[in-house]
Amino acid sequence: MNFDLAPRLVFWETTKACPLACVHCRATAQRHPAPDELATEEGRALIDELASAPRPMPILVLTGGDCLQRPDLGELTAYAKRLGVPVAISPSVSPSLNTGMLSMLRTNGVRNASLSLDGAFADTHEQVRQIQGHFSDTMRAIDLLQEHGFTVQVNSAVMAQNVHELADMAALLVHHDVRTWEVFFLIGVGRGQSIAEIESDEYEDVCHFLVDASQYGMAVRTVEAPFFRRVRAWRARRPDASLDPAVEFRLGPLYKELRTRLRQQLGEPTSRVLAPTFATRDGKGIIFVGHDGRVYPAGFLPFPLGSVRDKGVLEIYRDDPVLKAIRAAEFHGRCGYCEYADECGGSRARAYVATGDPLADDPACQYFAVQRS
Ligand code: SF4
Repeated sequence: MNFDLAPRLVFWETTKACPLACVHCRATAQRHPAPDELATEEGRALIDELASAPRPMPILVLTGGDCLQRPDLGELTAYAKRLGVPVAISPSVSPSLNTGMLSMLRTNGVRNASLSLDGAFADTHEQVRQIQGHFSDTMRAIDLLQEHGFTVQVNSAVMAQNVHELADMAALLVHHDVRTWEVFFLIGVGRGQSIAEIESDEYEDVCHFLVDASQYGMAVRTVEAPFFRRVRAWRARRPDASLDPAVEFRLGPLYKELRTRLRQQLGEPTSRVLAPTFATRDGKGIIFVGHDGRVYPAGFLPFPLGSVRDKGVLEIYRDDPVLKAIRAAEFHGRCGYCEYADECGGSRARAYVATGDPLADDPACQYFAVQRS
């Protein structure tokens, strides 16, 4: 797929308003809408522009804050349906996520929804979400979405406080018939700056574990850890698949712990590896429109490129020189000479937050450390 002309996914932070106050919130969401949010007419103009994009038409992902807090959500989704622009939602779990709302969205052609779950157990998830009872509310919301015919994706942020629960989370989601598990590797932006990330030598263990977790009929993707694709490629190319990855790749105790727990919960793998990815990354196939119309390569990459109030998002995406360099895999440091530069390319957000250079190498990737060991 050619990502030079148009992105595959356009994330729109429709509002800053959210009834939750999650400890790792990228958006630093707040109770009430921000005064400078894009108005309905501006949202319609964004949809008009996507309708004119080269095919396949980009998917508009409505995020926030909580997109369900937009009073014009029905009008915007109905307008997108009329123009044939595919829309997905990424709402918060709150009383607004109810039968009436979901029926309206389905009528307006919305079929895909993603929810966040940050622990396999109520204590962990609710420490992050800051609301008692939110774990069971989230599991009920998954069921409710499925009852209304939505395809459900669950998003989970990996952090020190939940990393040992990843196998239990995978099992929970498989048992709930979740189709896709998208695993976010934290970036220090928004309220995420106060959260303890996993240890640097654990990234490799987690990525190998996610390859294992994708062998139970549920697709697994990562956000801000594109080096998962390198790990997946390594695992696919092994001449002898019966060898133990822990030995073959010199993995640490975290991998062994998670794999053992996964097998206890789900038994032997039931499917091939389901880790489909286009070679997208921040700014390549992905673009993010903030609540005030400012455009960024991704939600975790606070590198402003312009505003849809001045210029079309597709024009910004196509013409920005930094995005062109990102799409051409013209990186600095290790990502610049790595053989996986195009397939992976490293997290541009982590590189930027760590160095101020959106083309620098991704400090979380252990590729060259692993090669030396
Ligand atoms: S060095 Fe960069 S491009 Fe290579 S695998 Fe690591 S993150 Fe990806």
